[in-house]
Amino acid sequence: MRKLLKQLISSAPTCDNGEIQAVKILQKFLKEYGINTELDCWDETHANLTASIGSHASDAGTLVFGGHIDVVPASAANWDTNPFEAVEKEGKVYGRGACDMQGGICAVAQALADIAQSGIKLNGRVIFSATAGEETDSCGVKRFIEQYKDKITRPIGTVVPEPTSLEILRAHRGILWLKIQTHGKTAHGSMPHLGINAIEKANALLNRLKDYKIPHTAHNLLGGCSMSINRIDGGSATNIVPESCVVELDIRTLPGQNREDVIKSIQRICDELHENDSNFKADVSIIRTADALETDANDPFVKAVCTATGITRTGAASFTTDGPYFRKLNAPVIIFGPGDGTLCHKPNEFIEIEQLEKARDYYKRLILALITESQ
Ligand SMILES: [Zn+2]
Repeated sequence: MRKLLKQLISSAPTCDNGEIQAVKILQKFLKEYGINTELDCWDETHANLTASIGSHASDAGTLVFGGHIDVVPASAANWDTNPFEAVEKEGKVYGRGACDMQGGICAVAQALADIAQSGIKLNGRVIFSATAGEETDSCGVKRFIEQYKDKITRPIGTVVPEPTSLEILRAHRGILWLKIQTHGKTAHGSMPHLGINAIEKANALLNRLKDYKIPHTAHNLLGGCSMSINRIDGGSATNIVPESCVVELDIRTLPGQNREDVIKSIQRICDELHENDSNFKADVSIIRTADALETDANDPFVKAVCTATGITRTGAASFTTDGPYFRKLNAPVIIFGPGDGTLCHKPNEFIEIEQLEKARDYYKRLILALITESQ
């Protein structure tokens, strides 16, 4: 498992490099245990790998594991070691992706390998998909769902092995990133009265947004919907009145919250500013969205995972995942994987080997409990 992790880290499946090399490494590992795999490569860089074990009977239940194999880039200057050359030290493996989330990928792969090798007969099926592009546009999981939605019989549930320090998480907020562009009229910087200053218009907007609370009802696990003004970009030169200024908002939405209503509430602020000042002109557009996730604590799948692992508490993740896409399989989704989620996307990211081994053992228990005994 450690060898596989080190090889995956060296394959550096960043947005620029793509996942092809990484999925081939994973495929080779799984094939050595006689596990069926399907490689789906759709351009020069992107690829998914989907593996399965167990019965292919049409009425068999299917447990899905789905995780992303791509990683965010790393700037070597900020690391103590080479981010794309795994280093093992004091029970930890350091490297980009060790925690987010090649550790989880390796733990699932090893669990499948151990079960395949043991010769235990499964009454159902386990599908494991390592998908591309989660850190950019989730292109991989979208393809996986499209291709496999109708092929997955009786889905029991999906486990997303993102790093949760092996806590069972069943909810997270969604993403709504908005761009608001204010428009002005350019003029020579020495004659500002001849222009309309888009930065000043953005300032009026910022003053309104600063204390604005998006209407919502707080969620018992996730708290509130938040909004943070995280980027501003305006003007071209010190002596030119700016004709454009862009403000970007990071809004985190709650399960059940209507995205359109949130956008309308921001649009309403722009409309009010325009009513008070006819020179205030702005448009609101979407940069990126991702759905929120919520699986009921009393869902039979959540209960079964708790029973199989002996973990009684469930919670919520602070980050978003591909989980909502897997929800399209019409089965519950949980986030449950090795590694400390606070290390994601940071220099000197690592995973504890003990976490990897525990995760592999939990996944094996889960497969055996859900796919053999309960069928
Ligand atoms: Zn991740």
